[in-house]
Amino acid sequence: MNKRQRERYRKQLLAKREELLHLVQAARKSEKEGTGKEAPDLGDRALSTVTRDLSYQLTIAERDIVRRVDDALDRMEKGEYGICVACAKKVQIGRLDAVPWTRHCIECQELQDRGEI
Ligand SMILES: [Zn+2]
Repeated sequence: MNKRQRERYRKQLLAKREELLHLVQAARKSEKEGTGKEAPDLGDRALSTVTRDLSYQLTIAERDIVRRVDDALDRMEKGEYGICVACAKKVQIGRLDAVPWTRHCIECQELQDRGEI
């Protein structure tokens, strides 16, 4: 990977990080605004619980990606970006384009998805 490619991924990672942190903050804000309001009947109360659970779930998933993005930026600092952490081969450019924060090449990702590594 040349410097220009790396710089492009770095920008994508930073943009994604920004976007996710924004979402996490927005979810937190709506959680805060949601508390204290009494739902008038049981049906509405059940619905508001579902909505709150959903935003909580989303927040966890997004925090997880933020962690991966940070990890990718960290590996970039060390010059390890774009190298599969499992087999130490170069991660395919197409895969990095799709998931810039990936730690695994396509083959290792498939193995991991199947629980084999
Ligand atoms: Zn691999």
